[in-house]
Amino acid sequence: MKYVFAAVVLGSAVAYAQNGPQPQAVDPGGPGKVPSDAIVLFDGKDLSEWVHADGQPARWTVRDGAVICKTGTGDIRTKHKFRSAQIHVEFATPNMPEQHGQFRGNSGVYIQGRYEVQVLDSYQNPTYADGSCGALYGQHAPLVNACRPPEQWQSYDMIFHPPRCGPEGKVSQPGSLTVLQNGVLVLDRVPVAEPTGGADATSVCDPGPLRLQDHVDPHVKETPVRFRNMWYRSLE
Ligand code: MG
Repeated sequence: MKYVFAAVVLGSAVAYAQNGPQPQAVDPGGPGKVPSDAIVLFDGKDLSEWVHADGQPARWTVRDGAVICKTGTGDIRTKHKFRSAQIHVEFATPNMPEQHGQFRGNSGVYIQGRYEVQVLDSYQNPTYADGSCGALYGQHAPLVNACRPPEQWQSYDMIFHPPRCGPEGKVSQPGSLTVLQNGVLVLDRVPVAEPTGGADATSVCDPGPLRLQDHVDPHVKETPVRFRNMWYRSLE
C-alpha cells in the first residue's frame, strides 16, 4: 500500500511519496558499545575469534580489555571472513622513543588479509608518506596526519568494498577503501585492486579475514601495539 503525504509550505503544495520500506532499526551503541547489527571480533575478554596463519589459536596477550601484539608469534586473523564491510578498530602504539621511522610502533590492519592499513607511531615521526599511519601501505598516503601521540587510543573507521570479479575470477572493477582516523578522513575511496606487500596468497575475489600485523625486524626487540573494540558490519 502506498501513502502520499501532502504538506502546504508557504502556500505551495509539496507532495511526499513513501517509496520504499522503512530502514531497519539499528541501535548505534556509543563509546565502547557496538551497533546492534555488528559482528564483534574482539570484546576485550579473549581471542576465541582469532587464529594464526596455521590455524592455531592466537598467542597474543589479552590484558586490561586489549589485545597486545606478542612480537615473534606472527600475525593473527579472524575466523570470520567478509566482503563489503564497515570496520571499526581501536589501537594504541607503544612509546618507543629510541626507534624512528618504520621501527616505531609498526603494526597494521590487513583488510581481507590483503590490504594493509598501516599502523605506526607517526606522531612527530616522519617516514615515507605511503608508509605512515593511515596509509594504504605502499599505495596511498593518508590525506592528513591525524595521529595522536603514542600510548593514546586511536580509532580507524573504514568502509571497504572489494574488487568486483567476472565469472573467470578476473577483476572487472577495482574495490574502494575509505578510512577515518580518529574521526578525520585520511583515505577517501581509494581504489583497491592489488594486494599490498605481505598479503595472504588468496584470490582477491574471495572473502577474507581481518588480520593484525606482527611487524618483526631485527632492529626491534618488541613492538607491543594494543588493539581493542574491533567489530564490523556486513554491507552485503
Ligand atoms: Mg605495518
